[in-house]
Amino acid sequence: MYKIPLFDLNYDENEIRAVTETISSKWISSGPKCRELEEKFSEALQISYACAVSNCTAALHLALCALGIGKGDEVIVPSLTFVATVNAVKYVGADPVFCDIVSPMDITIDETKFESLITPKTRAVIVMHYAGFACHMQKIMEIARKHHLYIVEDACHAPLSEYQGKKLGTLGDVGCFSFFSNKNISTGEGGMLVTDNPEIDKRVKLMRSHGMTAMSYERSKGHSASYDVAELGFNYRMDDIRASLGIVQLEKLAFDLKKRERIREWYLENLKELDGVWMPFADYHEFSSNYIMPVVLKNADHIRRDAVRELLQKQGIQTSVHYPAVHRFSVYQDLAHGELLNSEYVADCEITFPMYGKLEKSDVMFICNAFRQILEELQ
Ligand SMILES: *Cc1c(COP(=O)(O)O)cnc(C)c1O
Repeated sequence: MYKIPLFDLNYDENEIRAVTETISSKWISSGPKCRELEEKFSEALQISYACAVSNCTAALHLALCALGIGKGDEVIVPSLTFVATVNAVKYVGADPVFCDIVSPMDITIDETKFESLITPKTRAVIVMHYAGFACHMQKIMEIARKHHLYIVEDACHAPLSEYQGKKLGTLGDVGCFSFFSNKNISTGEGGMLVTDNPEIDKRVKLMRSHGMTAMSYERSKGHSASYDVAELGFNYRMDDIRASLGIVQLEKLAFDLKKRERIREWYLENLKELDGVWMPFADYHEFSSNYIMPVVLKNADHIRRDAVRELLQKQGIQTSVHYPAVHRFSVYQDLAHGELLNSEYVADCEITFPMYGKLEKSDVMFICNAFRQILEELQ
C-alpha cells in the first residue's frame, strides 16, 4: 500500500526456526526460553536482574507496585509519551503530575521544571527516553536523590542506548522495555523489567505470576511440589514462543542499530539546514537506538502538520505522530496541570518519518525531497 512504510519487521528464517523449535519442544508457556532471554537481556544491559513480562505496560505497573507506590502518592511523568506511561500510575491509585519537555529540539522531560513539581506526596518520577535519546539523567538523578524519589525509566524506545557509559534503563531504580511489534525488539507483545535491586527483582517475579512462590515450569522440574500465594499478583508472564523470538531479535539488535544510526545521518544531512523544521536531538552525541525519526515543523499548528502528512501519504510515504499529549486525552482531562506548552507544541507539530534497518539511502532521499517540496508548496 505505502511505497515506504513507517516500519518494517526485522524478521527472517531465524525467527521462524526459533518459534518452530519452541513449539516442537512442547513447552510453550513461560519456561526455559523466558529464562534464557532474561539472562541474555541482563547481560546485554550489564545489569543484575531482568524479568520477562507480557508487555511494557505490565512492567511499568509491576515497577510501581514493587516500589510500594499507591493511593495518595504523586508520580511525575511526561505528557509527551505513550499513554501507558501515565496509565500505570493510575493503576496503583497514585496521581500523575505532568512535567513539560525541554523544547522542540529536546523532546525529553524538562529537568529544570521537574523540581518545582515535587511536593511532600511525590514518591517517584517516570522518565521516558524519547526515540532512544536520554533524558538529562545526571540532573534528574541529583534532584531525585535530594528528595528521596524513585526513578522508573520507561526505556521502551531505548534498548542498548547509552548515557555516560551506562545503558538506558539501568540508571534508575527500575527500567521497563517493550517488545511490541514495532519496537526495536519485536515479539508481537512482550516486555522486560530490569533492576539492580534484588528485593525489587524478587517482588516483581512474584507479582508477575499471581503472587505464587513457584511457577509451573519450576514445579514441572520438581523444584517445588507446592506453592504459596505470598501477595496479590497478576498474570503478567511472557510465554516461551515470544521469548524465543526475543532471543533472536536481541542477537540482531546491535547490527540493526548500526543501520539505524546511518539512516538517521542521511536524514540529518538532508534536512538539518532546511528552514521550517527542527530536527530534535540533532547535536546529540551518545549512542541511541533510533527507535523513531521525529521532525518538528516550525511556526506550525496541527492543521498544517496534518496537511503535510497527508501530502506525504499521497506520495506513498507513511508517517506517524509521537505523541498526542496525554493530558489532553478525555480520560485525563480533569487532571489539573500547569503549563505544558512545549509538549502541546510538539504534539501538534511533530511528524515521525520511516525508520527501520532495511531503508536504503534512496528511500531517505525520496522522503526528504518529497518533504522539502511539500514545505515549499505550502509556503
Ligand atoms: C510501546 C510503549 C509502551 C507500552 O508498551 P507495551 O509493550 O505495548 O505495553 C509504553 N511506553 C512507551 C514510551 C512506549 O513506546
